[in-house]
Amino acid sequence: MGSWVRDLSHTVIDADLLDGVSKEISGCLAAASFAEALDDSGAELLEDVWVDLTASRSASSRQFTLRGTIRTTVQLECALCLEPFQRQVALDLNRCFVIGADPANQSSEVQMTLDVVFVANGRLALLPVIEEELILDLPMVPYCRTECAGLCPGCGSNLNVESCSC
Ligand SMILES: [Zn+2]
Ligand SMILES: [Zn+2]
Repeated sequence: MGSWVRDLSHTVIDADLLDGVSKEISGCLAAASFAEALDDSGAELLEDVWVDLTASRSASSRQFTLRGTIRTTVQLECALCLEPFQRQVALDLNRCFVIGADPANQSSEVQMTLDVVFVANGRLALLPVIEEELILDLPMVPYCRTECAGLCPGCGSNLNVESCSC
């Protein structure tokens, strides 16, 4: 095996192949794959996203689950001092997917309804699922530390690292 790592950026989970079995999905999704989705948030991934997941489906069940962990490092900009800072991300994923069209809305292939995601053709792309989890985990207002002193409103000095004479 060596240091070869599976790139899962284009992985599609096929529910047909999961019937009555569990499959391990371990590897990484390239940081660049998330750039577009994270663009609006101002967040930037500093490393690839590592996943260690298990997809499982009971025999002939209409549902399957995806469980495991997601890990990466994200760079955010502090809302007070405007300095970039790093945040370790370690998330537990536990999601349930239903094979078939969402009865409430049949206009798109994958429909989100509360915690249940309908997958019309039984084929689920992994990347959007991980993207959604990462975006939900981002803080609404990022702070570099709990006691960030911010910028001086008079001269703009970063009060975490210097004092000013205002
Ligand atoms: Zn700050
Ligand atoms: Zn000042």
